Amino acid sequence: MTAAMYISDFETRTLTPRQKAWDIAATVCDPEIPVLTIEDLGILRNVQVTETGKVTVTITPTYSGCPAMDAIRDDLKAAFAKEGYEDVEVNMVLAPAWTTDWMTEAGKAKLQEYGIAPPSGMSTAQRHAGPIRLTMAVKCPQCASLNTKELTRFGSTSCKALYVCQDCKEPFDYFKVL
Ligand SMILES: [Zn+2]
Repeated sequence: MTAAMYISDFETRTLTPRQKAWDIAATVCDPEIPVLTIEDLGILRNVQVTETGKVTVTITPTYSGCPAMDAIRDDLKAAFAKEGYEDVEVNMVLAPAWTTDWMTEAGKAKLQEYGIAPPSGMSTAQRHAGPIRLTMAVKCPQCASLNTKELTRFGSTSCKALYVCQDCKEPFDYFKVL
């Protein structure tokens, strides 16, 4: 980390350069699930602004090889260009690997409204660290029934599995716990 610029709220009563840059980065949405921002998903890991105004954004892909990352990189640069930032670097960090535990509660609520069941339960890493938890039932985003069944392990994208609700009979995507 180079000399990042931090101005306290006490001095300026406005957003620090880092907060301002973070807010710009946080407007970028996931190309596969446009209702979720990269902040909602926990993809956005860090934003730094140097004294010369160079912005460095650090993102962690949801899973390796996800083609959405190229689109996110382009969208980040475009979002900053629109706000007058010319020197923007997007770094991809693969470790520690992204897990659905990083998804924010707001993000999970938005997913459910969008008709995708949010990941339920904990990732493998979390399970190993804490007490043993049983896999939770997947809740139907339409009628909230827990009487659901997996149809295929891989739905419209490899992040999701296709489920069907046995009460309202509606099929839906489930964002798998990773
Ligand atoms: Zn249902």
